[in-house]
Amino acid sequence: MVNEINVKTILNKNKKHDGWFLGNYTLNPYAGCSMACIYCYTRGSKYGGDYGVEVAAKSNAVPLLKKQLKNSIRRNERGIIILGSAADPYPLVEKDLTLTREILGIIKRYKFPIHILTKSKLIIRDMDILKGIKEVAILPDELINKLDNGVIISFSFSTLNEKLAKII
Ligand code: SF4
Repeated sequence: MVNEINVKTILNKNKKHDGWFLGNYTLNPYAGCSMACIYCYTRGSKYGGDYGVEVAAKSNAVPLLKKQLKNSIRRNERGIIILGSAADPYPLVEKDLTLTREILGIIKRYKFPIHILTKSKLIIRDMDILKGIKEVAILPDELINKLDNGVIISFSFSTLNEKLAKII
């Protein structure tokens, strides 16, 4: 059974432009992360504690996101959405639940660019939607001359195998 929670907001606007991840918004479809990395920065934050033990889907994410993106467009605010700033958007439960996939569909519909942070190969399942976002996403003015398109995907790899580490 999947744990579910209701949230007040799903799209969080950054107070200032994030020059490292290039994001203007953060969005986490899930609370908690099944990857449970021992070095995760969120362990020491308000999201921390027994991080990784419990994963909960934000069950009202889809209607909330539609509403918040419509409001952003109305205010003429566009920017990159960082998907997975505090929890991997592809936890094990995503395979059946498809919440992240649904969220990507909405992001495509409203033509927002994205930066996805993940360690999961499940992202390959959503290549069709990611290609669609790449075609339609509207970049914020300050990045138009810096990026080719509106999809960035970042992976991080960890290994104790020195040979592999050198290759990476
Ligand atoms: S995948 Fe990322 S968010 Fe999840 S536990 Fe590891 S470092 Fe933290």
